[in-house]
Amino acid sequence: MQARESEPVTRLLAVREEIAQAARRAGRDPGDVRLVAVSKTHDAEAVRELAQAGQRDFGESYMQEALAKQAALRDVEGLRWHFIGGLQTNKARFVVGAFHLVHSVDSLKLAQALHKRAVAAQTVQNVLVQVNLAGEAQKRGTGVCAAEDLAREVVGLAGLRLSGLMVMPPFADDPEASRPFFRALRELRDSLSKELGVPLPELSMGMTGDFVQAVEEGATLVRVGTRIFGERPAPA
Ligand SMILES: *Cc1c(COP(=O)(O)O)cnc(C)c1O
Repeated sequence: MQARESEPVTRLLAVREEIAQAARRAGRDPGDVRLVAVSKTHDAEAVRELAQAGQRDFGESYMQEALAKQAALRDVEGLRWHFIGGLQTNKARFVVGAFHLVHSVDSLKLAQALHKRAVAAQTVQNVLVQVNLAGEAQKRGTGVCAAEDLAREVVGLAGLRLSGLMVMPPFADDPEASRPFFRALRELRDSLSKELGVPLPELSMGMTGDFVQAVEEGATLVRVGTRIFGERPAPA
């Protein structure tokens, strides 16, 4: 007998459909967009439920919470964990082997720490460089010029594979306000890829409020939390 679909699963399917429609509108293959369900602050059982509905990619922002959730879900096969939050260099040692992709590399110091760990583990860590396109002081990410330098350095580190770029535009009520930032990230990716001579396939952009615009502008990874899981509890 089939249990009634729970609400997060229903919302997950709706988000998937909206992503597919946005992709088609833009003349893109819907299969080229991966939905990362941002499960930070939500418990392992919520993740398990979505995993049973076929969701594989999950995003986390806090290391301790993420590792505890991974441990609780060890029996679930095929999960891909994404680290999307601010990462302190001293936490780099927890990343390698635990996360499929780190979206938030924003300094050479962090990149070198991840590289060192990956080399020691004889593996290669997939990373994105997070770009702070608006130059917001309170936000993580490197400025555009620094991003270029950082990307060049990362490409030279054998323990890392630079897969692309990530952006978090300034918060705005109007999702269209994000579009110029998404477009700018794609253009920056195109020029960096050409200059460095490496493919940079991934563009991580778009959240609950603006993932449709992000897909229309070329996102390959969208990071959606609230729309799927509901509101997060306010930080204590
Ligand atoms: C929390 C978070 C998200 C998800 O945000 P929602 O608005 O809940 O979809 C996406 N990206 C990053 C970097 C986050 O920290």
